[in-house]
Amino acid sequence: MIKATQCIQCGKARVFSKTWSENVGTSHVTYTQSVCPDSVCQKEVELLLKNRHDVAVNRIHESIRRRKENRGKSLLARRATILAKTRENSRHKLAV
Ligand SMILES: [Zn+2]
Repeated sequence: MIKATQCIQCGKARVFSKTWSENVGTSHVTYTQSVCPDSVCQKEVELLLKNRHDVAVNRIHESIRRRKENRGKSLLARRATILAKTRENSRHKLAV
């Protein structure tokens, strides 16, 4: 059942610009693409959605990056850093 949606920008009933169906795996899926009847508004909405998408994607990438960083800073790695620093310090002391 296809339901008409309202434009998130201007509130006008969106019109279906495209309807197509595809076989996804074992199921047959019907896709519909709706656009705002106002082409200027539609462009703005597309931009808005794209920005939102980009923000969401960036957030995901950022959290993955942070998780990787934290994983890298495991206890062993931290200990190795401390050890290296201690060694460096004692070398300095010896040199003096
Ligand atoms: Zn609109």
